[in-house]
Amino acid sequence: MRIGVGYDVHRLVTGRPLVLGGVTIPFEKGLEGHSDADVLVHAACDALLGAAGEGDIGRHFPDTDPRYKGIYSIRLLESTLTILRAKGYSVVNLDAVVFAEAPKVQPYRDEMQKIMARAVGIDPQRVNVKATTTEGLGPIGRGDGIAAMCIVLLAEMKDS
Ligand code: MG
Repeated sequence: MRIGVGYDVHRLVTGRPLVLGGVTIPFEKGLEGHSDADVLVHAACDALLGAAGEGDIGRHFPDTDPRYKGIYSIRLLESTLTILRAKGYSVVNLDAVVFAEAPKVQPYRDEMQKIMARAVGIDPQRVNVKATTTEGLGPIGRGDGIAAMCIVLLAEMKDS
């Protein structure tokens, strides 16, 4: 078994769609970034790569690479799984927290869990997405951005 953690934050700006956990959420602002800036999926990719001893998302999918411009980050999560499988790992479970003052994440949680679970080849019951505000404190509390943290557990195929 191997454990990994990932954390990411992106700035909220006008004129961008808000994509979280692979779901487009109606909101007045979206996250700024080279890809779709899906902060939750980026945290998941980093947790998975970390658990596998494969560095981080910037090493595998650099934001200077035009191939990743505007990319739906679920595609990066799928590519991450390919990297893990090649090293003999499978995902046991994934737990994540989104830090956002707004919008409410809860109505979209089931869909996020389903989409992310499909991307990493596990049952949706093994993906858990939570959300919290920061009680108005700091940049997240002011609505300047959204952050996410993710923890994953991997099994080595030879374990099973
Ligand atoms: Mg990111």
